[in-house]
Amino acid sequence: MLDIKITKAETLKEKPTDESKLGFGRIFTDHMFLMDYDRSYGGTGWHNPRIEPYHPFSIAPGCVVLHYAQEVFEGMKAYRTADNKIQLFRPECNARRYQDSCDRLCIPQIPEEDFVQAVKALVELEKDWVPHTEGATLYIRPFTFATMEQLGVHASTSYTFCIILSPSGAYYATGLAPVRIYVEDEYIRAAPGLTGFAKCGGNYAASIKSGEIAEALGYSQVLWLDGVEHKYVEEVGSMNIFFKIDGKIYTAACTGTVLPGVTRRSIIELCKDWGYEVIEGKLSIDDVMKAGHDGKLEEVFGSGTAAVVSPVKELKYEKDVVLIGDGKIGELTQKLYDTMTGIQWGRIKDTKNWIVPVCQG
Ligand SMILES: *Cc1c(COP(=O)(O)O)cnc(C)c1O
Repeated sequence: MLDIKITKAETLKEKPTDESKLGFGRIFTDHMFLMDYDRSYGGTGWHNPRIEPYHPFSIAPGCVVLHYAQEVFEGMKAYRTADNKIQLFRPECNARRYQDSCDRLCIPQIPEEDFVQAVKALVELEKDWVPHTEGATLYIRPFTFATMEQLGVHASTSYTFCIILSPSGAYYATGLAPVRIYVEDEYIRAAPGLTGFAKCGGNYAASIKSGEIAEALGYSQVLWLDGVEHKYVEEVGSMNIFFKIDGKIYTAACTGTVLPGVTRRSIIELCKDWGYEVIEGKLSIDDVMKAGHDGKLEEVFGSGTAAVVSPVKELKYEKDVVLIGDGKIGELTQKLYDTMTGIQWGRIKDTKNWIVPVCQG
């Protein structure tokens, strides 16, 4: 248990009145959670857990994170239900994954229960910031970065753990909207032995160039192929990806190069409950494009906390383009979206114990 010291802001920010214009990650709440790590400190090294008014950091220009990207993060949401309860979706999964990310980046871990406690404490204090509009949420961004002032390439001996909150608009302002995806055949996001399974800023830094290329061609997302053969589908931008071919559901296995999404594993559970065969393994882009041309590629969708489910209507791979489901949203895609959001907003009974209550809103 953390003994969290709370210092409240003297003046509070004005809350946005038009929740349809929130966008994503542009507005931040009144407070932030902070905790420091120092190797020379006693116990686990983590100390001084506190909530303070939201403020800029002061860090040394020579600190490790700015030069060598020793940093990890998480992404989760708080939901406000119709009967005004504030709740989280499987936060213990994020806490567990955070430990794996930290381990890969040589960043000191935070006990899972402390991570969840910190998230809950901050969300409860900021509960008035959880949007009221269906679809809009309070986005939660925990992160840890290396603060030691040193240009040698070594693990830092000091870190800051921080949680910030951002009220964010419904991902789909006017209902689920299918996206067009560009298959990246040159650059890669991950390779065996690298950091693909970790949620770290460095992975994103390496992905920005492909995103720019895709955008210039009119595509909103990049589909990554495996880093060795440039042949097997892995994931999309900040989402995992699923293909429904001839009634079966395929997604890449989490064997180190793919981010093990909480949405991904929830969707796999639901699909299995509904009697679908789910295959976690290698699926080549050639087989995907062929299935598309043969009329067997029934549905394609991304999955992630931000969008929940993102239907795909077009794939472009080299000179080949495949259109999926006449640009319409697939039946399974829609059902998954409705079920996931139904559980998250408390409209559907949570028979799986995925929901963790925070407080009355
Ligand atoms: C966060 C993330 C996902 C999705 O994970 P969720 O836990 O479902 O939000 C997928 N791919 C990448 C690269 C990510 O960073």
